[in-house]
Amino acid sequence: MNIALLGPPGCGKGTQAKRLEDRLGYLQLSTGEMLRAEVESGSELGSAAKDIIESGKLVPDDMIVDMISKRIDEPDCQKGFILDGFPRTVPQAEALANLLKEKDIPLGSVVEFSVDEDAMVKRIVGRFACTFCGQGYHDDFQKPIVDGVCDKCNGTDFMRRADDNEDTVRSRLKEYHRQTAPIIGFYENLGLLVSIDGMAEIDEITKRMETIVR
Ligand code: AMP
Repeated sequence: MNIALLGPPGCGKGTQAKRLEDRLGYLQLSTGEMLRAEVESGSELGSAAKDIIESGKLVPDDMIVDMISKRIDEPDCQKGFILDGFPRTVPQAEALANLLKEKDIPLGSVVEFSVDEDAMVKRIVGRFACTFCGQGYHDDFQKPIVDGVCDKCNGTDFMRRADDNEDTVRSRLKEYHRQTAPIIGFYENLGLLVSIDGMAEIDEITKRMETIVR
């Protein structure tokens, strides 16, 4: 099955997408991660996107749609994929519908995570990850067992996203309300929307997601 996850920054959709990838073999397609890889590689797309990402705004629709359209054609997407962070505007949702129709690929469900936004800011501003294996941590909620050492790979180097500071997070939330929230109605009308409580326990959410995806 192919699904898309919707929700404001920090709502946990990336964490859940990774869990579903590990458990069920669906591929997580995070447009944020794809863009950060482009920035890291210094590509033309990455150079165009860098400042936009750091300001908390959205990169232009055509760039993202083109990137995701090419990615979906790759063989590792054939078992099923989880769109994480895409679509984020109504034009992106419309473009996705068109390209999936052209490629004859069905979209099973769109899962919306509803959350408390002040809690989201706290969640995002404190988060960091192991530079080597990507394992996620948080200053208050999930520290490494041994301070400064990754639980998973023993790495000692950690990173924080450049856009995970309070000002940029507020701007990302504004963009979510202005541009992304209208998509909820779009998918409701298509009968694809499923809403879940994104403030529930992480394992509870995963169980719920598994029942949706299977
Ligand atoms: P994320 O990792 O999903 O929080 O995305 C980080 C940043 O990448 C966003 O704040 C946007 O600047 C950009 N981005 C990711 N996905 C999209 C998208 N579907 N449309 C436009 N910009 C995006």
